[in-house]
This record gives sequence, C-alpha cells and structure tokens, in this order.
Amino acid sequence: MQFNALTPALVSAFEQIVTPAHVLTAATAEAQQYEAYGRDHTEDFHFAPDVVLRPATVEEVSAIMKLCHEHQVPVTARGAGTGLSGGALPIHNGVVLSMERFNKILKIDERNLQAIVEPGVVTEAFQNAVKEVGLFYPPDPASKGSCFLGGNLSQSSGGPKAVKYGTTRDYVLNLQVVLPTGEIIWTGANTLKNATGYNLTQLMVGSEGTLGIITKAVFRLLPYPQHNILMLVPFRQEAQAAEAVSAVFRAGIIPSGMEFMEREAIAWSSDYLKIPLTLPEDITAHLLIELDGRDLDELYKEAEQVYEVLEKYDVGEILLADTAGQKDDLWKIRRNIGNSVRYNSVYKEEDTVVPRAELPTLLKGVKEIGARYGFKSVCYGHAGDGNMHVNIIRGELTDEEWNVGLRQPISEIFQLCVKLGGTISGEHGIGLVQKPYMHIALAEANLNIMRGIKQVFDPKGILNPGKIF
Ligand SMILES: Cc1cc2nc3c(=O)[nH]c(=O)nc-3n(C[C@H](O)[C@H](O)[C@H](O)COP(=O)(O)OP(=O)(O)OC[C@H]3O[C@@H](n4cnc5c(N)ncnc54)[C@H](O)[C@@H]3O)c2cc1C
Repeated sequence: MQFNALTPALVSAFEQIVTPAHVLTAATAEAQQYEAYGRDHTEDFHFAPDVVLRPATVEEVSAIMKLCHEHQVPVTARGAGTGLSGGALPIHNGVVLSMERFNKILKIDERNLQAIVEPGVVTEAFQNAVKEVGLFYPPDPASKGSCFLGGNLSQSSGGPKAVKYGTTRDYVLNLQVVLPTGEIIWTGANTLKNATGYNLTQLMVGSEGTLGIITKAVFRLLPYPQHNILMLVPFRQEAQAAEAVSAVFRAGIIPSGMEFMEREAIAWSSDYLKIPLTLPEDITAHLLIELDGRDLDELYKEAEQVYEVLEKYDVGEILLADTAGQKDDLWKIRRNIGNSVRYNSVYKEEDTVVPRAELPTLLKGVKEIGARYGFKSVCYGHAGDGNMHVNIIRGELTDEEWNVGLRQPISEIFQLCVKLGGTISGEHGIGLVQKPYMHIALAEANLNIMRGIKQVFDPKGILNPGKIF
C-alpha cells in the first residue's frame, strides 16, 4: 500500500479543523509529549507519527478523515495507549488521531439502564459514574484506571469480571462511527434486540481501528450487585490451581472473578506496589476468587461450596479478605502484574485462550516449550475464561533470540491453543505483534472474508494499516 507524505498545506488544513493547539508535530510539540504518541504498552516499540491530531467533535473527525482519504494519508486512532498488541502504533507514520478529548459521559439513562458515552472516557471513571446511581458496567480490564472505552471497544476487551458478566462486546448496543471517507453512521439501535440486517455494531467491536473511528457508544447497564466475597487461595502445585478452576464451575458456581497467578506474578506485583504479602516457600500459584450478588447469605453459602471444592486440592491457608481495604489491595496486586513484569524486564505477552478445562494442559505445554527453547515465562490471567497471559521475559536473551528465535516457540504455544480448541488472542487483539500467527488460528478462507470486509469499509487502506493481517 502506497501512502503520501504529509505536506505543509495538509498540516495547516488540520490546524484549521482542530486549532493549532491540537496539532502536534516533532517541530511544534514538546518533544516528550509528542514522543509518547509513538508508544503504547507493547514491548519497547516506538513508531513516530508525522502528526498527532486531537479532535473534540465528530465533525472534526469527519473533516480529518475526508482530507486523509483524499490525500491517501494513513490514520491510526489512539485511545489511552495501554494496548498490548501494538494496535495504536502508527507503523506507517502519518496521522495519530488521539481520542483523548472525547471524554464526556453524555447521558446516563436510569429508566432504560443505558448510557451514552464518548470513546475517550476512562473505563473506571464510567464505572464509578454509573455506580453512583446504583448501576453497573461490568467490563473491567486490569488497566481500567487508565484505558479508554473506545480502546476497550476496538480491542473487544475483557477483564476479571468477564467470567460472569461477559466482555465489552456484551454491553454495546449502538455506535456512532466515522468511516474512512468521512461519512458518519450509527451502526444499530439503542435496543436490547436488533434483527435488522447485518450486525455492524459487533463488526466494529474488536476491529482495532481498521474499519472506522468510534465517536460515541451506547452501552447497556445492569443493577449494581451490592455484595462480594474475595478469597486468595494458595496452591502447592500450580497444575492443581489450574485444575481447580473448572472444578468450581462444575460445582454449580459462577464466580465474578477467577484469576490465576503464578508465584512470581503475585510476588513481583506485591513488591512493585510495596503491599506486603506472606508467600510461604512451598506455594507455587494462587487463585483469586470473587463471588458477587445481592444477597450476602447466599454468597456465604456459595463460598462454603467453593471451600468444599478446594478441600480436594493441596492448598495452603486461604485468605478471606474481610475489609474493603484488603479487597482493594488484593485486586491492586492482581491488576498490576502486567506493570510489575514490565518494570522487571521487557516482555512479550501472549494472550492465550482455551476452553477452561484445558487450562492445566496449556500451562504444562507452555512450561515444556519454554524449557525446550530456553526462555522463562510468568503466567497469570483470567483463568475462569480459560484466558492465560503468558509473559515471556526478555532477561538475558540476545537480539537474535528475542526477535527471531522466539517465533518458533510462540508458534508452538499458539498451535497448542488451537489444538485444545482455543485461539491466539482472548482479549488483547492481534494488532501488530500477533499478525504473523493469524494463519495458525484462521483458515485462508476466513482471512479472505476479513480482507474483503476491510476493502468494503476502507478501499484505500488508510485506517490503521499493517494491523491484523
Ligand atoms: C497493566 C495492563 C493491564 C491490562 N489488562 C487488561 C485486561 O485485563 N483485559 C484486557 O482486555 N486488556 C487489558 N490490557 C490491555 C489494554 O488495556 C486494552 O486492550 C484496552 O482496551 C486498550 O485501551 P486503550 O484506550 O489504551 O487503547 P489503545 O491502546 O490506545 O488502542 C487500542 C486499539 O484501539 C484502537 N482505537 C482506540 N480508540 C479508538 C476509537 N475511538 N475508534 C476506533 N479505534 C480506536 C486503536 O487504533 C488500537 O488499535 C491491559 C493493559 C495493561 C497495560
């Protein structure tokens, strides 16, 4: 795909659209501020955009897209830049379209249990706002304190609560989208049901900024579950921790969180946060299990059932969090594992996912592959969903080992996922880094359908080029 370079005339046209204050280039912006738009949370990659634009209205986005379409300039939408697959990286330079000024919650509709929001709202801020009126928006990526709803939609993000409540995909009803030509559409209706033609709303979810720019979203909400119980369960054998996951569900319980953490994952994170946690020598993994609901007595009965399941395994002393502060600390430790791994070493994060009961086989396979190829991995993740993040630690690996040598073992990990009925990304998306492995998960016929969809939306290929396939 051939793209055109940015001209001074285009830059001044952008300045007229968003005002010069919201046009950043290497020449105009403070170096550090501009530089940050070339990075996200994926490894240590950096790709410099030619220009960063910060529009605040759908009309501005539309005008920018029209110009870029006409002049064949690539455009990469950017949320908060917390992505782990390189989706927001402008690998062909061009325009980075930062959605940070789209930061308003436009309406919380308590009558219909819905909300209309802009895509630059931070996920946790939205959750807190709806909680104030007794409502619940469950999708909670561990990065919820910084990531944006638009990024969550574009990545089909999950999080701990997905196990009971589903992912971002399950809460979106309707989206306002600017197409690469600058046309503005709504993808659906603000209804719980919709059988009116193809489902463009769901097509946009997980499209990683390759089909259109999301400028508004309508979400459905739930009543807020009043109570929860949180327990941290230490295991002496990590294989047993992985086995216990599906056993809890087989006992008829659906937790609102079921997170697996290898010893190193939890240890690094508590050290990183300086939250003291006692980790006996013989403990190799933990499950963090949350139950939630509106009836506390019922929850205690469920907790007893969980204890009965756990009795069959070689577990240490279970920590039942009994204060809000203790619960917060445990979740903080879980949510910061990614940050603590990043703090310790550059890493590649593989977002493996398999049917839940296959988790022990996946974990064993990952460790065997690591031993065979000589790399260390720290594993943790949303075990209740069968979604395990395999963090391959760079450590002392050479450039050759890191950039080339790991391709084969990563392929083997993904082949194992597919063999077990899973796939290569549960929630982080394909972006740049998983692109070489798409053929492992999908047949050429599937990929051709996706390429065809891309061609219909974006015939000039200007939106987030070089991502997914
Ligand atoms: C510590 C940590 C923990 C994490 N935990 C989780 C987790 O538990 N679950 C999970 O699913 N993910 C997790 N992530 C990954 C990441 O936070 C999510 O993928 C998140 O949804 C990205 O949102 P963002 O706003 O940062 O998007 P960005 O990284 O800025 O962008 C992501 C993609 O969305 C596109 N995009 C952004 N906004 C728009 C828009 N308005 N219109 C069209 N395209 C757009 C971009 O082009 C890009 O392709 C974690 C990341 C970190 C660093």
